[in-house]
Amino acid sequence: MSKPFWETVPLEQMTTVQWESLCDGCGRCCLHKLEDEDSGDVYYTSIACRLLDIKTCQCSNYPKRIEHVPECLKLAVTDIPDFHWLPETCAYRLIADGQPLRNWHPLISGLKESIHQSGVSVRNIALHESQVSEEDWEDHLIKLINL
Ligand code: SF4
Ligand code: SF4
Repeated sequence: MSKPFWETVPLEQMTTVQWESLCDGCGRCCLHKLEDEDSGDVYYTSIACRLLDIKTCQCSNYPKRIEHVPECLKLAVTDIPDFHWLPETCAYRLIADGQPLRNWHPLISGLKESIHQSGVSVRNIALHESQVSEEDWEDHLIKLINL
């Protein structure tokens, strides 16, 4: 049996469709993060970007997200050296680090829901941005599970 594309095609050579399909839909990258200015370490909070639908873990206005959230980052191949800020479970980071996709990834399971059933998505942990004022974000730091 031939190997799947993510095991044979380098990130830099993937088609747009292949690249987009790598996203597992966890929503973790859409949680607000705090950075230690001295060390550069990144800490995740449970507070979601205002455009994240915290049930589906999808962006509610992906085509126009930059208009509403200018700081939103679109992942690109040129960002690969900066992938350290992504969660350890993120498919882009796993592949950039030479690791396999996990069993709960929809490309492996064949099921979109597997990301939620696994507990990796933010469905049961995310708070909407309007629920917490920015000065209190530090009170909502979380440790993301790494399955
Ligand atoms: S963390 Fe990675 S896999 Fe998860 S939603 Fe963000 S880009 Fe997609
Ligand atoms: S604008 Fe959309 S894609 Fe960007 S961080 Fe917010 S929810 Fe995620």
